Amino acid sequence: MVTILQAEQAPRGLVLEKTALERYVPPAKPSLVGLSRAQLADALGDIGVGERQRKMRVQQLWNWIYVRGVTRFTAMTSVSKDLRVALEERFTLERPEVVAEQVSVDGTRKWLLRLPGEHEGERPHEVECVYIPDSGRATLCVSSQVGCTLTCTFCHTGTQRLVRNLTPGEIVGQVMVARDRLGDWPGGTPPEGAIVPTDGGRLVTNIVMMGMGEPLYNFEAVRDALLIVSDGDGIGISKRRITLSTSGVVPNIARAGDEIGTMLAISLHAVRDELRDELVPLNRKYPIAELLDACRNYPGVSNAKRITFEYVMLKDVNDSLADAKALIKLLKGIPAKINLIPFNPWPGTRYECSEWEQIEKFSEYIFNAGYSSPVRTPRGRDILAACGQLKSATEKLSARERMALRAMAMTD
Ligand code: SAH
Ligand code: SF4
Repeated sequence: MVTILQAEQAPRGLVLEKTALERYVPPAKPSLVGLSRAQLADALGDIGVGERQRKMRVQQLWNWIYVRGVTRFTAMTSVSKDLRVALEERFTLERPEVVAEQVSVDGTRKWLLRLPGEHEGERPHEVECVYIPDSGRATLCVSSQVGCTLTCTFCHTGTQRLVRNLTPGEIVGQVMVARDRLGDWPGGTPPEGAIVPTDGGRLVTNIVMMGMGEPLYNFEAVRDALLIVSDGDGIGISKRRITLSTSGVVPNIARAGDEIGTMLAISLHAVRDELRDELVPLNRKYPIAELLDACRNYPGVSNAKRITFEYVMLKDVNDSLADAKALIKLLKGIPAKINLIPFNPWPGTRYECSEWEQIEKFSEYIFNAGYSSPVRTPRGRDILAACGQLKSATEKLSARERMALRAMAMTD
């Protein structure tokens, strides 16, 4: 059962109590969601569909799954009854299970998804996925891993011990879940009072791989999932509207350009190796100069397809005007956008968010140097959906941590 909590019906900032984690029994039948066309053809082969028919059947399934969003084989009226029965016997159309949905006063929605553990008998894993509506667009922030193997010192996900890669089905499944919950399939309607784009178009217009995990450390699954999400005969979100954010896994940046071809965002956060080594420890392996070289050579990069550099604003750590100046110098010659992110604090962190005045000064310097420098407004803070606050509930927060998070969310 999905528990829905409207933030306005509850004390502001209330964190939803998570349901107890009973032992999870993974589904006996695999889901077709997230399979490539070739894998779907193989699945059809397994249930006896002849080779000559497969291509046409794959086209039909693709349309029912990704254009119509059906959740039952019985709804596939253009598919013969015998085939529907055969499919039903062996497969499902299931998406990740939604355990909880939280709705922020600003319209942001956060879904907590439960995924099977990797090994039999293991506790289920959980990830979060966040919907951020704006006027004219709505962005879905998607996770690529349960937790993260990296340990950026300002990121809450980085403190989580449990890590596993998501499968393509679990990544595509986040988009399917969002569209299910928003009524974003043909004939559907959004939930009452939902804040969604009102131009009559689709309700999920953009995707950012900025949830939990490092997407370039789960390369194949992220690639396969994004190719499905951007497929023009299916979900059809253009690659220009999909942004993959990486902390700087240099060897996979060129591959991402060649094999995925979405927009790229780099979590830079510091202009000197000494500081970046501390904030983003992966920098010790792939220092700034190598990272920026990879950006210069990112396949397809141009003034029309710029790389976004993310820069988290940490008080007295990386927010001086000298840092801003060095940042401009560093990015010279790279078609770039700069995205300043106010730090979202979490219990136990050693950092503070920069003063607003300092963020404005920093942003103005960058603007005067010829860059657009939007400051990313934190969204959904009352439901702890902001950047870097996502952390799986499988690792339970202590009562003290929970109190601190609530207090934090309520002070803004
Ligand atoms: N692992 C990838 C993508 C997920 S993190 C990456 O690091 O790029 C998405 C963005 O949120 C990154 O730019 C990350 O640096 C930023 N972030 C992490 N913790 C944050 C926090 N507490 N406040 C603000 N931004 C944060
Ligand atoms: Fe992982 Fe990104 Fe968080 Fe670093 S900022 S710990 S790479 S999720």
